[in-house]
Amino acid sequence: MSTTTEKNDFIRTIIREDLQSGKHQSILTRFPPEPNGYLHIGHVKSICLNFGVAGEFGGACNLRFDDTNPTAEKQDYVDSIKADVQWLGFDWQGEVRYASGYFDQLYAWAVQLIEQGDAYVDLQSPEELKANRGTSWEVGKDSPYRNHSVAENLALFEKMRAGEFAEGQAVLRAKIDMTHPNINMRDPVIYRVMHAHHHQTGDKWCIYPMYDYAHPLSDALEGITHSLCTLEFEDHRPFYDWVVEKVGFDNPPHQYEFSRLNIDHTLTSKRKLKRLVEMGVVTGWDDPRMPTVAGMRRRGYTPEGLKDFCERVGITKSDGLVDFRMLEFSVRKSLEDNTARGMAVLRPLKVTIKNFDEAVANFDALKSEKTVATLTDGVLWLSQPKHPNLDLGNRQIPFTKTIYIDQADYQINPPAGYKRLSPENPEIRLRNSYVLKIDEHILNEQGEVVELIASIDEKTLGNNPEGRKVKGVIHWVSATHGVPATVRLYEHLLLEDDEIADLPAATDGDDADTIWIKQHLNPNSLTICQAVVEPDLAKAVAGERFQFERESYFVADFVEHTSDKPVFNQIVGLKDSFKPE
Ligand code: ATP
Ligand code: MG
Repeated sequence: MSTTTEKNDFIRTIIREDLQSGKHQSILTRFPPEPNGYLHIGHVKSICLNFGVAGEFGGACNLRFDDTNPTAEKQDYVDSIKADVQWLGFDWQGEVRYASGYFDQLYAWAVQLIEQGDAYVDLQSPEELKANRGTSWEVGKDSPYRNHSVAENLALFEKMRAGEFAEGQAVLRAKIDMTHPNINMRDPVIYRVMHAHHHQTGDKWCIYPMYDYAHPLSDALEGITHSLCTLEFEDHRPFYDWVVEKVGFDNPPHQYEFSRLNIDHTLTSKRKLKRLVEMGVVTGWDDPRMPTVAGMRRRGYTPEGLKDFCERVGITKSDGLVDFRMLEFSVRKSLEDNTARGMAVLRPLKVTIKNFDEAVANFDALKSEKTVATLTDGVLWLSQPKHPNLDLGNRQIPFTKTIYIDQADYQINPPAGYKRLSPENPEIRLRNSYVLKIDEHILNEQGEVVELIASIDEKTLGNNPEGRKVKGVIHWVSATHGVPATVRLYEHLLLEDDEIADLPAATDGDDADTIWIKQHLNPNSLTICQAVVEPDLAKAVAGERFQFERESYFVADFVEHTSDKPVFNQIVGLKDSFKPE
């Protein structure tokens, strides 16, 4: 883990050495997502690495869509991925690139491999292909089509391209070694038949290259120097090297693998995140509970927070599980110094201040220098800074005869150690305002407190009360001038294994992902509060972030917030339970 400006992981060490030794004059990396879903926090790690090293070493980074599987991909995903990379604050070099942009060249190289005797068309069924591939403890078996002549293979490959085979009837395979200890080297498939429309190339092709073939050659074509990917591709590297060498690149790119990001309570698989969307357990890819970039943006996470988090996680070769609270720590840190504060009461309890009119009528005579206030039409407007950093400016808070405090701040039978209001402890400081004393509480038929009758100490606006100490400060909002708002509180969308209480019954026909998701869903991942916020908060524009004092950081929702009907999403709590190293 490192927070120093000079980052020193093994990849940066390699790049530094390659530049010093003159192996490369400059470096070029790429971020190569498949547009089969929205980007998630795992991709952010890869983006920060690829764009990060490019920036640090004066190189560049390409954005390339690895779009070799048209049935899983679509334009919406392409668009969202571009927007996400930009939102994180990174710029790719030149135009966006697509593996599909190289399909003609990739086809020509496949023909070249056939001509060199390095590839052949296999007509075995998918089942035979699988069975004859062998396992990690058993070698594979040569295909009966393996020794077809070059001419036969060229003719068959042309037939594949011309659409004369159905899906699964024919594949093009690299001719390497069916007894190779690495299963990825046992004549891997490099082209398959797919009668599918492609979001970029339309209906031009009915054969599509496999990722393992398209990826190294796309890297080589673009002149990528360091091809950075996650550890599961380590076993694919021999084929990566094989293919760029056979095609004839003199100075081919090199692949380096680093560990995937895994975080507790968090899915980092587009496939599973897509399932969440399809199951309707979230409102979409951008649901604020989703670990997608779109979801985290809507949640109010900042690009700075995400980048700081990735920096703290660092780049290593060992897989591990990162504490979710570390992500929250980074997001919170990015908000502390620049986020305006305000008061919002999430579970309102009405307080009527009996002596309001008399008390505030004297405010001019009694207020201290620290408090700027103006009495207009029975409303006392308190001018208060939005943040300890006074550069963020002031706001006007209306103080009125009826206010709301949070239900949790008054308890008839408080637990031990409770520091807020109760019949035994009826006095407390109202934040930015007077000391309040509860005189009586009103109960409903169920015995719940529905209103408090109180009075204020008129000498306490900006001054300590005389002759006694009042402990505790609570927030409040004017009942007449506050604005009703929808406030969403979040918990983890998914529970860890040891947090699951009751397993729901599996329904017939559910696939493994669906069953797993149903079992792990947190029923409390979303709580909606009908809150009241001070007027300054309601003026927020969508995407504006605030600290609701004594509560959490919140963001005005990008999709649903308006100043008439404010909607805020909880970003992160105020307290740290995580200490970074
Ligand atoms: P998913 O399983 O979610 O689809 P993927 O690896 O198949 O992930 P790609 O779109 O192929 O998704 O990934 C683009 C790049 O992001 C790859 O280089 C991949 O290694 C990297 N990446 C994906 N997931 C993670 C992760 N959890 N941590 C770090 N890098 C990741
Ligand atoms: Mg993938």
